[in-house]
Amino acid sequence: MKAGAMANDDRSEVLVLGGGIAGTSTAYYLARYGHDVTLLERGEIAGAASGLNAGTIWAVGWGTLPTLDSTLSMGSLEMFQTFQFELDYDLGFRQGGSLQVIQTEAEYQFASESVRRLTTQGFHVELCDARDARTIEPALSDHVLGCVSYPLGASADPAAITRAFAAEAQRHGARILPGHDVTALACGDDGAGYTVTTTEGRVFSARTLVLAAGAWSRQVGALLGLELPVFAVRGQMWATAPTARRLFHSIGAVESARYWHADPAGSATTPLELTHWEGARRTRHLYGQQLRDGTIIIGGDRQLSDDATPDPEGIAANHAHARELFPFLRDLPIQRTWAGWMPFTARLEPIIGKISGFERLYVLTGLSSSGFEQGPMAGKLLADYIHTGEAAPLLAAADPMRQVSALAHPQAGFSG
Ligand SMILES: Cc1cc2nc3c(=O)[nH]c(=O)nc-3n(C[C@H](O)[C@H](O)[C@H](O)COP(=O)(O)OP(=O)(O)OC[C@H]3O[C@@H](n4cnc5c(N)ncnc54)[C@H](O)[C@@H]3O)c2cc1C
Repeated sequence: MKAGAMANDDRSEVLVLGGGIAGTSTAYYLARYGHDVTLLERGEIAGAASGLNAGTIWAVGWGTLPTLDSTLSMGSLEMFQTFQFELDYDLGFRQGGSLQVIQTEAEYQFASESVRRLTTQGFHVELCDARDARTIEPALSDHVLGCVSYPLGASADPAAITRAFAAEAQRHGARILPGHDVTALACGDDGAGYTVTTTEGRVFSARTLVLAAGAWSRQVGALLGLELPVFAVRGQMWATAPTARRLFHSIGAVESARYWHADPAGSATTPLELTHWEGARRTRHLYGQQLRDGTIIIGGDRQLSDDATPDPEGIAANHAHARELFPFLRDLPIQRTWAGWMPFTARLEPIIGKISGFERLYVLTGLSSSGFEQGPMAGKLLADYIHTGEAAPLLAAADPMRQVSALAHPQAGFSG
């Protein structure tokens, strides 16, 4: 399937735009299947959300009837293991389980109903009372009422897996080109392919184009006259200095899950999973882990924002929440904060597939807050589609055309 020797060095069979987990995993599988691939990234590989995230994986298993969601998470989990243990990449992969802390009676009630529903569907999740919770995570506060435990939960270094996909894609013949900012896209009148121009005036062309531009999908789609319904949501995190091991799981809290479940208000055009809406805090969200070197990283605040600098108020609220769950954090000052943009869609459904009305134009975006744990399998499913011409039936749930009715949103001013 290699396109063979091209007269022009800048012509490929497939161009992938974006060097995050979505773009690099797609490029890797396409190159492995023998396609001639070039990936263009304006900054560094893993320079955006894919290198800035918390690296937590909330796997709940395949379920009795695997869904797109469970397939993306569990398929990706297997890839993390393959890269760590078979291909020998040091991803810091660790499968120590994840837990979500319960602080109130109402949360306990919500958690026990969720656990009952999930176990009926064949997922691996357990409800622990306060004593069991403190047995498996001893630093938990005496005030917590319990936790939801995800025994399959894991964590890894997000930048490492993204760079590993890029390196393996290269090993299979792909050209990986960081430092290439795409400013113009055009498609040939006769369906002959796509031409991509960078700020330096370099021109690349290909028969097949894959858009994997994360939170910039809206802007990149607009270059082809498309409206991709992706919202840039700022996620932010903080880190302590390295300290003796205190956290044994990836950690989270039930508070936001309960809020989001109870508030079905989000209309089709607004992303739901936010801590703020219209300027006001609605809930507190929390997730994090202790890294191999002992650093504790925690985050959770999410806001639609065109500003990529951390918001001190959000960091303070998140830190206070973390201290409620783990009192030892009172003695560990924040050493560093950072933020990145997550590519959210209105209904938190990823967009994976072919754009109808265009010849061989594909998109992988909208991985929202789960792109680290779901991006690898999403890239494989898209590469399979491009390679075989057939979409896996599960991809119907991510068909770009499903979201056409939710296209318009005035996110004016976001420029990234
Ligand atoms: C603080 C934070 C914490 C998170 N925690 C988790 C977590 O614990 N678990 C989890 O599963 N997910 C988490 N996420 C979400 C996850 O990081 C994202 O869903 C995922 O990284 C999205 O990957 P992507 O490849 O679609 O986007 P990105 O990683 O943003 O990659 C898109 C790339 O496209 C490039 N690009 C854009 N426009 C152009 C252009 N015109 N020309 C060339 N290149 C272009 C960008 O430079 C960028 O590198 C978190 C995100 C954040 C910000």
